Amino acid sequence: MGDDKDLKNGHKEDDYEKYCYLCRRPESKAGKLIYMPNSINICQECMQKTFDSFSGSNMQFMDLSNMPNMNMNQFTPVDDIPKKQKVKKKKEKEKKQEEPELTLSTIPAPHEMKAQLDEYVIGQDYAKKVISVAVYNHYKRVLTDSMDDIEIEKSNMLMVGPTGSGKTYLVKTIARILNVPLAITDATTLTEAGYIGDDVESVLSKLLAAADNDVEKAERGIIFIDEIDKIAKKRNTNSRDVSGEAVQQGLLKILEGAEVEVPVGAGSKNAMVPLTTINTRNILFICGGAFPDIEDIIKSRLNKQSSIGFRADLKDKYDKDDNLLLKVTVEDLRDFGMIPEFLGRLPVLFALQSLDEEMMVQILKEPKNAILKQYQKLLSLDGVELRFDDTAYHAIAKRALEKKTGARALRAIIEEFMLDIMYQIPRDDNIGRVTITGDYIEGTGGPLLEMRGVLALEQE
Ligand code: ADP
Repeated sequence: MGDDKDLKNGHKEDDYEKYCYLCRRPESKAGKLIYMPNSINICQECMQKTFDSFSGSNMQFMDLSNMPNMNMNQFTPVDDIPKKQKVKKKKEKEKKQEEPELTLSTIPAPHEMKAQLDEYVIGQDYAKKVISVAVYNHYKRVLTDSMDDIEIEKSNMLMVGPTGSGKTYLVKTIARILNVPLAITDATTLTEAGYIGDDVESVLSKLLAAADNDVEKAERGIIFIDEIDKIAKKRNTNSRDVSGEAVQQGLLKILEGAEVEVPVGAGSKNAMVPLTTINTRNILFICGGAFPDIEDIIKSRLNKQSSIGFRADLKDKYDKDDNLLLKVTVEDLRDFGMIPEFLGRLPVLFALQSLDEEMMVQILKEPKNAILKQYQKLLSLDGVELRFDDTAYHAIAKRALEKKTGARALRAIIEEFMLDIMYQIPRDDNIGRVTITGDYIEGTGGPLLEMRGVLALEQE
């Protein structure tokens, strides 16, 4: 196997670390490897242990390949490990990166970041502001790495917001703007190490995969843990809480910053998976959850406050407050079942609004990659103009609100009625323009079709 052999995706074989065949540590950890026939590499420590166990005494080094009954072909060569299970060697500093790297001079200022978010994410102004400032501070801290006297606190975040309000979308967009690797994971799949399910290190494996197995890149990435409310402490259980409080405990270490051994290219550790070490100090963790019924906790706290002394107020004052969630505090989350140590490691806490009809309409119309724009583009390739009148936007938004899954419902509704349009329109070459109306969405009428000939006359 030539060292300079070019591999499919352009990486040279030499870009990848070699592993000790026995302990699976990479050369950078285990020290210089002893290369043996058939690409079997063994670190000095394992080699010595092997000799020691052969003889029970301190045997000196010998050439294994020359031993008469040693058939090296029975081993699988380490270099045949699939590519996705190998770690890229750390790049030397002077080597140029192919992609524009995030640097102090290229990191967008908070207002620029928010402006870019505005192009995709509708509403959620407060959340966009908080996330822009937090992300900016985080990467400034990471990129300078010179804050010896004043250690800037890590800006891990906790996002509270109803389903489909844009939590995941916000994080995805920010990662794209910054061009950093992102791993999205679901807290419900995590369990305490040793139980069925993924242990917490698996989130780091995902990030490593997203970073193209480049440890340095992964160490500056973002991890989004969704459904974090599902690992709240279970109340009134007698059994061991392996997927709740124990997972929160397990996450503490990696949230703060630790050296963690991570399997490469697989979800879990086992004997045959190579390991690498990732330092989580500079990884930005964002947790998100809907925290169902936390409004009740917020309400009872607010009511308690307002019923004391001079501030005594009406008892049902907060009953009609739609955005009670925006008043969430760490105390409420603790009452919900998140442990204080966990909350302490997520210092940036903010909430997202639930979407109303007007916001839904904006989501349909405005974002750069709005779904309706995608359909318009598709039909324009057939030379057909697709239009929506105002009643259509509102009818779609109303139907989506009924489903109570936020903006997530929009796509399903649109796909349902667009199916017929996309099927029927290309059938008839004469159609030049289709207008979708509210009646059509509600099933009480058809779309408005206009023929090419008539449109041409109109234009004259
Ligand atoms: P969740 O809050 O449950 O994580 P998502 O972020 O996954 O919700 O939202 C689902 C989809 O809805 C997104 O992919 C996006 O297309 C759309 N969406 C949700 N909220 C917004 C928003 N505020 N602006 C634009 N699109 C949104």
